[in-house]
Amino acid sequence: MLSVTVLGCDGSHQGMGGACSSYLVKEWETGITVLLDMGSGSFSNYERFFQLDELDAVVLSHSHPDHWADIESLAVAVRYTIGRRRPLRIIAPEGIMKMTQHPYGPLFEWSEVGAGSTVSIQDMSLRFYKTDHVLTTLAIRIDAPDSSGNVATLGYTADTGDGWHPSELGYGLDMLISEATFTSMYEGRSQHLSGKQAGEFAREAGARALMITHHWSNLDRSAILHEAAEGFGKEVIQARVGMGVLVKS
Ligand SMILES: [Zn+2]
Ligand SMILES: [Zn+2]
Repeated sequence: MLSVTVLGCDGSHQGMGGACSSYLVKEWETGITVLLDMGSGSFSNYERFFQLDELDAVVLSHSHPDHWADIESLAVAVRYTIGRRRPLRIIAPEGIMKMTQHPYGPLFEWSEVGAGSTVSIQDMSLRFYKTDHVLTTLAIRIDAPDSSGNVATLGYTADTGDGWHPSELGYGLDMLISEATFTSMYEGRSQHLSGKQAGEFAREAGARALMITHHWSNLDRSAILHEAAEGFGKEVIQARVGMGVLVKS
């Protein structure tokens, strides 16, 4: 059984009382637990729901702080306050490690990845794809077998403009987590997707379920959701902090 718990879903900066991108992915039979991104404000939500020792790896998609800044908080907690019984894997594109102050030393095992990289975390496999965004921004496909070998597939677009398509993650994912930063009236103004584009792209990629996230806090969430559902052709999940969803039972 693979699940996703939303620990942050604001885009580009935190809204009032909010937190930026972070999604905890857990396979409950094998116990493998991976955190996708760790945006500003998300660590407090991690502490609400999970223990530090249950985390196998943190995977960072790109160098914008709304996707990695709270790795600093987690690292301070590992080094000085809460502690941890084993080293923590951190998997990220080149460049982020140089910007950090605390996540270094024997408690952390960094590995750098790029487009085309594949990483295994025990039985779970992660593959990386370059999106249409700044520098090296990596979308992620996760293949996660349960203890019987049934594989759940999850995709995460990270941040992207419409010059990249989630079908590159493979057709027919069990769930796609897609950015849907704004409404269609903002399309083309920056390298992000509208709700309409996120919905249409997910439908074209054959995703079985779609979760939209990375909302700009000054925009109407319900308008983005409405656009996305229209584009997808069926119900869409809109990320909220604390929400847990099953990718595959
Ligand atoms: Zn972002
Ligand atoms: Zn970004």
